[in-house]
Amino acid sequence: MNLCRKCFADSVEEKTRSTIAKYSMFKFDDRIAVAVSGGKDSVGLLHVLAKAGRRHPKAELVAVTVDEGIRGYRDEALKIAAENCKEFGVEHRVVSFREMFGCTFDQMVKRLKESGEVRVTPCAVCGVLRRKALNVTARKIGADKLATAHTLDDEVQTFLLNILHGDVSRIAKEKPLTDEVHPKLVPRAKPFCEIPERETALYAYVKGIRFQSNPCPYAIEALRNDARAMLNSVEEKHPGMKFTIFKSIEKIRPALEETAKKEGLGECVECGEPTTEKVCRTCQLRKQIMQR
Ligand code: SF4
Ligand code: ZN
Repeated sequence: MNLCRKCFADSVEEKTRSTIAKYSMFKFDDRIAVAVSGGKDSVGLLHVLAKAGRRHPKAELVAVTVDEGIRGYRDEALKIAAENCKEFGVEHRVVSFREMFGCTFDQMVKRLKESGEVRVTPCAVCGVLRRKALNVTARKIGADKLATAHTLDDEVQTFLLNILHGDVSRIAKEKPLTDEVHPKLVPRAKPFCEIPERETALYAYVKGIRFQSNPCPYAIEALRNDARAMLNSVEEKHPGMKFTIFKSIEKIRPALEETAKKEGLGECVECGEPTTEKVCRTCQLRKQIMQR
């Protein structure tokens, strides 16, 4: 398919709008928290949603950036996120690991390494804490939905990672629009879930969007890199495979949802946030790291 720059950008915006409509992700008057890390996907999503929002004057966008406290990486991303929000007149909230969990992510990783703990990768910890920070912030600002920039690639990688971790019930929960299962959990929408990462990247270039391109210093250790490499190699030999996997997940999800429902969702005895366990994963990790 050969498209000029404008037609390509229009096609990404159109595909995103059609994914939003297909999964009924937003209502016309939703207050939407958008997770904006400063990377190409999240800044691109902010652009697409801000543009689409012009047709829905009653809908509101609030960008939320999590500052994990990763020296030399997140500082630049924060500036870029702020610049993009200013361009669209979108309110910007920043929440830091330091204020929410008591120390920066760099300090947490240092403690983890000093303890000799090798089973938990930095990204596994960061992912859990970031999800919590985003949910708590979205709830505090009264958001009806939390939009994240997960692409088709992210979705199939997560599927594979959940299989590798034996976490089958998460496959059921990780829908394009998550269900309202607990009043403290803001439903998460993924408008880019059917768009390949190479298209979201190209969209950012074509639109001249400024985004952070430096990789996170901890990314190298993530199991996700292996999942990404494997899926990219399959896609290269058999184009369309990622989308086929995505469609297969959609088909098997209803059967898995029955299993996930049986787990039930309560509140953590320590922090009161929703969890399927007595103590949520965030509190478990925090204790594990802080007490070392
Ligand atoms: Fe966190 Fe890993 Fe992403 Fe870095 S690469 S921001 S450690 S999840
Ligand atoms: Zn907890």
